[in-house]
Amino acid sequence: MITAAHLTKRFGRLTVLDDVSVTLQPGQAVSLIGPNGSGKTTFIKCLLGLVIPEEGDMHVAGQSVRDHWSYRDRIGYMPQISRYPDNMTIRQVISLMTDIRQGKNAQLDTELIDAFGLPALYDKTMRSLSGGTRQKVGACLAFLFNPPILILDEPTAGLDPLASEILKAKVLREKANGKLILITSHILSDLDELTSDIMYMQEGRLQFLESVDWLKQKTGETKLNRAIARLMATHDSATKTNADEPVRSLF
Ligand code: ADP
Ligand code: MG
Repeated sequence: MITAAHLTKRFGRLTVLDDVSVTLQPGQAVSLIGPNGSGKTTFIKCLLGLVIPEEGDMHVAGQSVRDHWSYRDRIGYMPQISRYPDNMTIRQVISLMTDIRQGKNAQLDTELIDAFGLPALYDKTMRSLSGGTRQKVGACLAFLFNPPILILDEPTAGLDPLASEILKAKVLREKANGKLILITSHILSDLDELTSDIMYMQEGRLQFLESVDWLKQKTGETKLNRAIARLMATHDSATKTNADEPVRSLF
């Protein structure tokens, strides 16, 4: 459903994405992990059409991200930092987004809105909300239009443990419904129970995209973070580059 072919992005002299090719399928919950600055956000921005790659291309359901923006109706995006007009209430933000998108998808999914108890807060302005509540609004909007693709950027970072569990349960249900879920995080333990596949990036290059089952089997480790550390150590000695430090800093 999502393919990247030889995706390359440079900012000035810095190559932020270096010849990245991947295919992501419906029903996969892919964790995009890697050290800070490894190109995770840039990859997502390319996918959303917010950054234009120098070389290569990306397709979403067969449509190039370079062509039209209509493919974006297929994507629900929860940004790491959600920005909404400060003086709007939660109710107004939700109805604004619904007005913009409703014509294209009338079937709203309010499950997360109810699970988070947002209706009780509907008349609060965005300005007055805590960071965690803003995160909840961002999550609700990502799922509201029932998109086949969900992109969640550090989704549990600002959430309290209960909200985090509610969101994880929702992700698992949507994965079971056959949706494609792409989650970036540097907190691997948060993702262990959600993830079907790990996409690991370092210095703009894709190191691997493998299923969790394969990783655990290949390395003989039962914990995901240990499996990845072990695989990276193998990579490390194979390529004779020192990849050890950035990997360790992830965990
Ligand atoms: P990650 O999300 O993995 O932390 P990013 O994709 O945000 O990494 O950034 C990768 C690299 O690209 C970093 O070195 C970052 O400073 C650089 N970068 C990102 N966006 C820009 C930009 N708009 N202009 C210049 N450099 C950028
Ligand atoms: Mg980032």
